[in-house]
Amino acid sequence: MYQSTRDSGVAVSSAQAITQGISADGGLFVPQSIPELTNEEIKALLPLSYVERAKAVLAKFLTDFTKEELDACVSGAYAPGKFDDESVAPLAEIAPGVYMLELWHGPTCAFKDMALQMLPFLLTTASRKTVGDKTIVILVATSGDTGKAALEGFKDVDGTKILVFYPQDGVSPMQKLQMTTQEGGNVGVCAIKGNFDDAQTGVKAIFTDEAVAKKLKQHGMLFSSANSINWGRLAPQIVYYISAYCDLVKEGKVTLGDPINIVVPTGNFGNILAAYYAKSMGLPVAKLICASNSNNVLTDFLKTGVYDRNRPFFTTVSPSMDILISSNLERLLYDLSGRDDKKIRGYMESLAKTGRYEVDDAIKAKLNALFCAGFCDDTATKETIGETFQSRGYLCDTHTAVALHVYEQYVADTGDKTPTVIASTASPFKFSASVLDAVAKEDVTGMDEFSKVAELSRCTKLEAPQALASLKDKAVRFEDVCTKDTMERVVLSMLGIS
Ligand SMILES: *Cc1c(COP(=O)(O)O)cnc(C)c1O
Repeated sequence: MYQSTRDSGVAVSSAQAITQGISADGGLFVPQSIPELTNEEIKALLPLSYVERAKAVLAKFLTDFTKEELDACVSGAYAPGKFDDESVAPLAEIAPGVYMLELWHGPTCAFKDMALQMLPFLLTTASRKTVGDKTIVILVATSGDTGKAALEGFKDVDGTKILVFYPQDGVSPMQKLQMTTQEGGNVGVCAIKGNFDDAQTGVKAIFTDEAVAKKLKQHGMLFSSANSINWGRLAPQIVYYISAYCDLVKEGKVTLGDPINIVVPTGNFGNILAAYYAKSMGLPVAKLICASNSNNVLTDFLKTGVYDRNRPFFTTVSPSMDILISSNLERLLYDLSGRDDKKIRGYMESLAKTGRYEVDDAIKAKLNALFCAGFCDDTATKETIGETFQSRGYLCDTHTAVALHVYEQYVADTGDKTPTVIASTASPFKFSASVLDAVAKEDVTGMDEFSKVAELSRCTKLEAPQALASLKDKAVRFEDVCTKDTMERVVLSMLGIS
């Protein structure tokens, strides 16, 4: 069963947790206990494919799903052809004992595909078990990557519709093109005049509007959420850390039982939390290294125990980590406080009221033992991309470069030689302008997105992912622009129930 981080008395099945997304008390759903993964079990996973490993790991968390249901979810998510690498999440050794875990071989070239390709299957299966045959309506407000990944995941999935709102001037040209050319019979995309917060606030207002909910109900529809606090997005992310360890053991790079370090470029604390859960299950992990860009609220928190979002917000070259409230941190604190729901409520109330909280000494000690943290500004990010390409012939994107830089700092400080897996979260071609600037010092002003991708391909002699290159030939399908006040009308008309 799953409990809420703000009320330990809540007890719902995983299907309910996934359908609901967030607990009614505002807390996040977490398993009552973290299932165990023994070395014997890891050994049994070694000969298996990614899909088979995923089935085995997820079966430990989604215990109310039948074997057939889980098989269908996992096989559907990673069906042949969806990921442009057979092994789904391959490792690249960029230096002795240093491995890039490439999580961007999916249809939108960023790691969010790893979970968002599976979420539609988990969600439709879960809702069938809990609320019967309803059409699930997903509303998303996006600053770029999540919207596209959700659209690709939900596209033409029976029993679902998905509507995405993005700030008219707040996404990159490539991200905008990815969304406005989206294919699928159950998708809708609309720009909103305003910034990301306006889109987010508008979506939340519709989501919680009782009159709208009633209208949906009359038509056999139900809102649900695809955002990163849904357990259905977290669970699939635990798999790839375990699978990466299996690959290292299988290739003889690590002896079964010996530890690795894991470095994760972090924004909302989702991806690194998945690594923490893998460690809690029993995966041999020594240090979890949390890497931030100039929005380094997590670096300070992990070093001092004080979370303080009252600080300037920076727009960086790693935009998917430009976040000052890391929602998934709540799950970690719940665990480290010994599941003290009252304490968590206090921290979160303080965060809402003052933008700040300080954890107690016991939690601080645990954070210190588990995590290391560092950050990296835009200049160092670009230097890392340039140097890594020149000296090792490996091209990484801006988010991954943040992680690599923080890892290099960590090694310089500690001399730690533990084999290390770095989560590589996006294809370098997704952020072509910054990456081009880093490797070629080229002025790309005035160049369109496709020319930047082509130019990066030319000067690195690397092939651009088909998913990005092929956008050039796709027709724009969605050109609507709305305001905060007309959003509701757009939603109802897209659903055909206005
Ligand atoms: C979303 C994202 C991140 C941050 O992941 P969190 O789970 O929010 O910590 C890092 N890199 C890329 C490319 C992303 O899209």
